[in-house]
Amino acid sequence: MSNSHNPKHIIRPEILALSAYHVPPAAGMIKLDAMENPYSLPPALRDEIAQLALHAPVNRYPDASAVSLKAALRQALGIADNLDILLGNGSDEIIQIIAMAIAKPDAVLMSVEPAFVMFRMIATFANIRYVGVPLKQDFSLDLDAMLAAIAKHQPAVIFLAYPNNPTGNLFDPAAILSIIQATPGIIVIDEAYQAFAEASFIDQLGQYPNLLLMRTLSKSGLAGLRLGLLIGRSEWLQQLEKVRLPYNIGIMTQLIAEKVLHHTAVLSEQAEAIKSERAKMSAFLGTMRSITVYPSNANFILFRVNAASQIFQALKQRNILIKNLDGSHPLLENCLRVTVGTPDENSQFCATLRTILSETV
Ligand SMILES: *Cc1c(COP(=O)(O)O)cnc(C)c1O
Repeated sequence: MSNSHNPKHIIRPEILALSAYHVPPAAGMIKLDAMENPYSLPPALRDEIAQLALHAPVNRYPDASAVSLKAALRQALGIADNLDILLGNGSDEIIQIIAMAIAKPDAVLMSVEPAFVMFRMIATFANIRYVGVPLKQDFSLDLDAMLAAIAKHQPAVIFLAYPNNPTGNLFDPAAILSIIQATPGIIVIDEAYQAFAEASFIDQLGQYPNLLLMRTLSKSGLAGLRLGLLIGRSEWLQQLEKVRLPYNIGIMTQLIAEKVLHHTAVLSEQAEAIKSERAKMSAFLGTMRSITVYPSNANFILFRVNAASQIFQALKQRNILIKNLDGSHPLLENCLRVTVGTPDENSQFCATLRTILSETV
């Protein structure tokens, strides 16, 4: 390889410095690491989906504006007629679309720390400066620090997940409203976990010209389809649409998502089951003397132990995969995150954790 053909000379240094988003192998394991809904769809609905697949014209490009799917989303989520919808191949792609659209040479993308890691990573992909404002020790918003950072950095966009990942809590809505009013740019409220939260900014959308709301079907049961959406005023969404690749939502995703959205009761029953299991798991974790469990409004629970990596590995050896957050941020020292699974998976997790804790001391 000649020197000029060396990736080190071609690829941007900030990309060379990244490590790729790591998805650990999970074959044969109890998979409680990725906030997936553990339940499948009912057999009758799966039969209907099979029929859709049978007749889908896969030789044609999908509907580039996904008219029918958007109408179903509008109905299912109660989106007002005066608001637009932009679809993404997962909400990850929407973050990327926004980042590309705002990437002026001096633009800043702001979030909190710890937050969803893709905010920072996508800022890097798009060559944008990222500013992460630390949360308080209890994972609440540090409003004074946020307002100071906004004044200093004048961010083009702020992303706040509501509830937050990986901490699971809802930030104070009054603090968020202060941030919306203080920021010169757009603010995206990322409601990936809305199905488990009973709280939303959707009713505020009409009132603030710089507010956008992001949702995804991933955490509520359709992670494999990859469908996210952004809701907001057309002034913004018309511009962002220009950056969206025309056929980013495939035909199977359009057909299946629309079908399932006509049966939203299925997904909300599953979300209810997950919420009641969450309460049981939190209560169990709360009884363990060496564990601090944090309140969750999502489908996962953050908890702190004495030796996170050791416990994580011991669970893994017993075929239970959760997420080790130790080392990812100073506020997350010795923290682990478990996704709420089926009752059976959850009780296996709890029993195994109890055994491990009694062995490790
Ligand atoms: C999982 C997650 C997403 C990404 O969801 P996709 O729609 O699957 O890309 C976005 N934001 C937060 C906070 C998440 O936890």
